[in-house]
Amino acid sequence: MPQINVTRSSMPTYEEYCEEIKELWDSHWLTNMGAKHKQFEADLLAYLGSDNVKLYCNGHLALENILEAYAFPKGSEVITTPFTFASTTHSIVRSGLTPVMCDINDVDYTIDVDKIEELITDKTVAIMPVHVYGNLCDVERIKTIADKHGLKIIYDAAHAFAVTYNGVSSANFGDASMFSFHATKVFNSIEGGALFFRDPELAVRLDELKNFGIHGPETVSWVGGNAKMNEFAAAMGVCNLRHLDEEIAKRAKVSEHYHKRLDGVEGIRLNTLQEGVKPNYAYFPVVFDGYKYTRDDVFEMLKTENIVARKYFYPLVNSFDCYKDCDFYGTEKTPVAKHISDRVLTLPMYADLSSEDIDRICDIILR
Ligand SMILES: *Cc1c(COP(=O)(O)O)cnc(C)c1O
Repeated sequence: MPQINVTRSSMPTYEEYCEEIKELWDSHWLTNMGAKHKQFEADLLAYLGSDNVKLYCNGHLALENILEAYAFPKGSEVITTPFTFASTTHSIVRSGLTPVMCDINDVDYTIDVDKIEELITDKTVAIMPVHVYGNLCDVERIKTIADKHGLKIIYDAAHAFAVTYNGVSSANFGDASMFSFHATKVFNSIEGGALFFRDPELAVRLDELKNFGIHGPETVSWVGGNAKMNEFAAAMGVCNLRHLDEEIAKRAKVSEHYHKRLDGVEGIRLNTLQEGVKPNYAYFPVVFDGYKYTRDDVFEMLKTENIVARKYFYPLVNSFDCYKDCDFYGTEKTPVAKHISDRVLTLPMYADLSSEDIDRICDIILR
């Protein structure tokens, strides 16, 4: 049996991509905000109904750049969650800021809004919540808390591209939202990322920060790095965006099939839809809690049959080797995140996953 991976990158046809990049052979303009870059920005703004976007060579550097743009004093605190990819926490620490770990709720695995306020100190400057698996955080209550305490909200929206809440794109909540266009995400530009932001006055600084802090031909204003998206990545994004709605519709079918097989099984908990939210079916997380097999059993059973599921997110960020000696990261402070992280498995999920393969996966889990 051929291997089934947890995901499979979406791609346009070879011909469509070649057509898209043809003009690069005329212009010889390969990076530094060329024609494809401009087109991709315009397409994204139109698709998501947003006003301000910047593109990056990956999502992680978009997070680092927005933190840098705000120029928070070193040692300022950013409230975030440990049930996420390394990038979220690393972006805070690498910016000289201190992450403060808030627990998640056990319904949609996003930040537990009831626990945010008790973590706010006079050093808190921002909240960086994560739209886990494409489930949206409680954006309204987070805004209320942030407004009350004068905090910025920067969403790690890496999982939530094309998700909407009451018709509003996930790009448009908080002060800024980062999307990752990594090959493994619902929507990809090979590697890539975008930052959507509310305050248009940030635009110039963001442009400069991703290009060595260069302000003009003879002026360098910031100690910036290099986080620019190249033309080939932008062209891939332009192509993939044309097909995204079909891709998501196919993912919806995969999700439906899984639900048919696994709904109502004792000890198995599936992700549920959120009210008012149009999902993107980015992942298919299953929590094994009191099931006849543990998460690790199921992972091994699938692996034996050449099916690669993913313990996502495991381990928790606050038990990483690089953080485990920092006392403010302890996993005992985030028991719900620990509970879910020890029991969750994301099953293979991509547009062209066949019904036969879904049945094979479910047969193994249920046997
Ligand atoms: C993928 C991902 C990132 C990082 O995105 P890259 O484009 O790979 O740099 C950040 N946060 C979360 C939650 C992610 O899943």
